Amino acid sequence: MDDFYYGEGGLRCEGVALAEISESIGSPTYVYSFAALERAYRELEEAFSGLDHLVCYAVKANGNLSVLRTLASLGAGADIVSGGELYRAMKAGFDPKKVVFAGVGKTEAEIMAALGERILLFNVESASELERLEEIAGRFGKRARVSLRVNPDVDPGTHAHISTGQGESKFGIPIDEALVLAEKIGRYRCVDLIGVHQHIGSQITKIAPHAEAIEKSAGLVEELKRRGFDIRYFNIGGGLGIRYRDEEVPSPKEYIDAIRPSLEATGAKILCEMGRYIAGNAGVLLTRVVYRKKSGAKSFLVADAGMNDLLRPSLYDAHHEVRSVKENGSSSLKADLVGPVCESGDYLARDRELPDAAEGDLLALMGTGAYGFSMASNYNSRPRAAEVMVKGDRWAVIREREHNADLIKGEVVPAFL
Ligand SMILES: *Cc1c(COP(=O)(O)O)cnc(C)c1O
Repeated sequence: MDDFYYGEGGLRCEGVALAEISESIGSPTYVYSFAALERAYRELEEAFSGLDHLVCYAVKANGNLSVLRTLASLGAGADIVSGGELYRAMKAGFDPKKVVFAGVGKTEAEIMAALGERILLFNVESASELERLEEIAGRFGKRARVSLRVNPDVDPGTHAHISTGQGESKFGIPIDEALVLAEKIGRYRCVDLIGVHQHIGSQITKIAPHAEAIEKSAGLVEELKRRGFDIRYFNIGGGLGIRYRDEEVPSPKEYIDAIRPSLEATGAKILCEMGRYIAGNAGVLLTRVVYRKKSGAKSFLVADAGMNDLLRPSLYDAHHEVRSVKENGSSSLKADLVGPVCESGDYLARDRELPDAAEGDLLALMGTGAYGFSMASNYNSRPRAAEVMVKGDRWAVIREREHNADLIKGEVVPAFL
């Protein structure tokens, strides 16, 4: 499966040596593999074979236009969570009839933009949002197609920050309340209830919680149909986990096969919203060791990428494999890989056996294609990294490295200062 492997010139992505990319444009740099994106998407497609389905790509995992264009060309739909993501998805060429819009806080402007594009579905998260949709659609003479995002109250067994389907979560509507709400929608003039949606969390590595949640939500689809609602879509959300270190993760086929009877029973078109599974292992972050440092008994490698470039280790204690770009299996060093940001929480790898890299050596943080650049910030006034796409033996910059001027773009010093 590896589109990142050791060969001529060290660690490579498809037909390109990663060292060549950094020699040309510097670091830190995210590098994405076209082949890996395509492979992950096709695996999902194949897993669903025999079912009427649409694989939507969760834009928030990695919203770069070229990543989006890749997936749009393969036929994917898009799962968006903001007006900004709608803008990106439209620029990248997604068919609006394949766009679904989730999120607990859709504003009037965002709803209007999505109605204007005639997107496939709003995943509605509350009674108030429904009322707002009815009002806005009515005002503009539009119809809003909705699915109810239900909260099946299942613990997905993942990190608390990325669990979304438990009783106390801000996301979704409890299943019993969804039935009440559905009856209310029946009386709305501009809102059509045609789907049920769920998404219980991210980086889920066990099938059982998924299966339990899907069974509950599928039950709601059937109950709504019994009550005369024309439920045509069942959106099972995203969240399929990937292997970051030694996790045993189900393949898409194992996952879908396990829930296939529930899906078939609904008779609905199945939507899914995968982000991490599609983009996660399709990207690496290249970073250079700026300094080596010892502090008491502890060793540090200080990199030119920090938490502003890759937040996952600081935010979720996430594990990313660290590889030497120069050579495989070089001697190792027990150390922390830290960034230059002025925060103790700024680390990329903590208490780990790392490549014993010299100052100036290039490292690759593996599995950073999802929730890597998309969570990057300018904290500490650090320009954001460049992004590169590799396809075969070709590569191109798909987002320029930011310059200092980008850091103050839009800032104004008023005359009274
Ligand atoms: C974030 C999100 C996803 C994607 O989750 P992954 O774990 O990246 O697959 C799907 N659906 C919704 C509603 C989301 O918020």
